Parts: sequence; C-alpha cells; structure tokens
Amino acid sequence: MGTMAVTPPEAVTVRVPAKVNLDLRVGPRRPDGYHDLATVLQAVSLYDEVSVARWDDWQVVPSGSYAALIPTDDSNLALRAARLLADRFQITEALSVRIDKDIPVAGGMAGGSADAAATLLACDQLWGLGLEREDLLLLAAELGSDAPFPLLGGTAIGTGRGEQLAPALARGRVHWVFAISDTGLSTPSVYAECDRLRDDAPAPQVGAQLMTALRAGDPKALGAALHNDLEPAVFSLRPGLRELRDAGVEFGALGAVVSGSGPTVAFVTDSREAALDLSVSLAASDLSRDLRRAKGPVHGAQVVAVPRPD
Ligand code: ATP
Repeated sequence: MGTMAVTPPEAVTVRVPAKVNLDLRVGPRRPDGYHDLATVLQAVSLYDEVSVARWDDWQVVPSGSYAALIPTDDSNLALRAARLLADRFQITEALSVRIDKDIPVAGGMAGGSADAAATLLACDQLWGLGLEREDLLLLAAELGSDAPFPLLGGTAIGTGRGEQLAPALARGRVHWVFAISDTGLSTPSVYAECDRLRDDAPAPQVGAQLMTALRAGDPKALGAALHNDLEPAVFSLRPGLRELRDAGVEFGALGAVVSGSGPTVAFVTDSREAALDLSVSLAASDLSRDLRRAKGPVHGAQVVAVPRPD
C-alpha cells in the first residue's frame, strides 16, 4: 500500500434505505412496558441522503419530499446521533446535518432511525474515527432499536426490542408497492391497542414459512407468509387500512402487510411491471394518495460522496 496524504474531508454524504417488516411478532407486555419482538426486516430502495459538514453551530437542514415533517430541534434523530458520537469522542466542533428525505415520515419505515444510522457512518468518516461496523451497530442501538438495521441492510432477523440482528438467508428480489397514509399513528398508541385487544401472547418467534420462502426466493410464498401481530390494532384504529390492504390483494398483490406500527401498507409483487400495474389500480381506487414503488433487499447505509477539499 502506498502512502496517501490524509486530508480530512470537508463533508460526507451517506445514502441510507428504509425498511419494511416482513414479519413482526410481538410478545406480551413486559413489566417495564416494552414488548419482546421477533421480526424479519428488509431494506428497500427508498432512500434518505444525510450529509454532514463542519459548521459554526449545530444545525439540521431538511430537504426533499417530506422536508416539512422533519423536526429541526434537538429531537431530530440525526442530530442526536452526531452529538452522541461527539460526546463519546470528546469532539468539540459542531456540524451542519443536511437530510434529503425521501423515506416517508412516521410511516413505520424507520426513516428517523435510518437518518441516525447514516449520521453515525458519515461522522465516523468526517472525523476519521475508524470505527468498526460492530462499534457503529452498538452506538446505533443506543439511539433506538430500529437504528442498527439500516447499517446492515439486506434481510435480517431482529430479536430483543428488534435491535439484535442476524442476517437472514434470502434469495432473489421482490418489488414492493407502499401505500403511504397521512393518518399518523403513534407507535405507543398502536402497542396499547394491541395489548387491549389480546389477553396473552406467546413468546415471539418469526414464522418458519417466511424463512423457507426467503431461502427459496419464492415471491408467491413470501407474499403468503407476510405477517404483523400489530395489524389487528392498526386496523382497529384505522379501519380504512384494512380496506386498502384487501383492495391491493384483489388487484393482484402476492401479499400485503402493515409495516411496523403503520400506517404504511406494503404490497409485494414479483416484477417491476406487476408493481406498476398494482400502483395504477390502487391510485385509481382512491384508497391511497401516496404510492411508492421500491425493490428489496438492497444494501445498507453507504458513503456516496466525500468531496475533496480544494
Ligand atoms: P418507527 O417505525 O421507528 O416508529 P417511523 O418510521 O414510524 O418510525 P419516523 O419517520 O422514523 O417514523 O419518524 C417518527 C417521528 O420521529 C417523526 O414524526 C418525527 O417527529 C421524529 N423524527 C426525529 N428525527 C427524525 C428524522 N431525522 N426524520 C424523520 N423524523 C424524525
């Protein structure tokens, strides 16, 4: 290896994917209020881009389709991620964090967590910290149970609160249609409704049929095996979403499932054409106003641009 002049970059941009839950099993409510989960996550090709650059003061600059919905105060997860790293490594300089948002906000696709994950990776590069993936995964888990997965990408099984990840054997690609709703559903309200609707729950375990379908790369079997224990609660709170799911299946989706705690409904198909046809039918039905297509699985967070200093 030759010697290279190591000049710290001025700015780093990371592209990070959204996730969909192919399976979500929710255990009984624990005394601490949390629920143990077993889930299968897949990274899909809806991306945010997060850029970090040195700045006089901390700031968040949102842009993109959903910019207006992103908090710019200290509650922003990307900002929290940057400050966590700065604290941990006693870095005193401030950053400007630009978020170009294409992942639907508050839709159960973990966009905020994706931004947190992207920020960790971008800051690691900007500050030359040389962190291993394992370090980044642990830091991400401190920021939230959905934050480690976007670093990994692909298809993975999550246990614990969803943050303990193991890659899943998965073959082939599927084509998704996501029906985004603006009927915001808070995650705590969905879990509370889930607890209200059921007396007890077994220890959570992901479905064997889904794992077989993933290994075989069989979209039809995958569609049939999609599952979410939170669905009855989501449908109880937003009955229109059940209608939307049923319509998508009638229009030819191989399967449908609410992603995470909703309200996004995810439909699976086996080709780009089928996904396009389905989104045209759903749009014509007037049941959903915002439809997005994506493929999965895709890679996790990746550095896309490190401009050289002049
Ligand atoms: P989850 O499935 O993890 O509950 P979600 O996908 O439903 O999350 P997010 O898009 O992650 O929802 O955002 C949920 C809330 O988090 C938003 O309403 C917003 O107030 C807040 N938030 C904090 N940081 C961000 C961020 N960087 N991008 C989007 N939302 C953020």
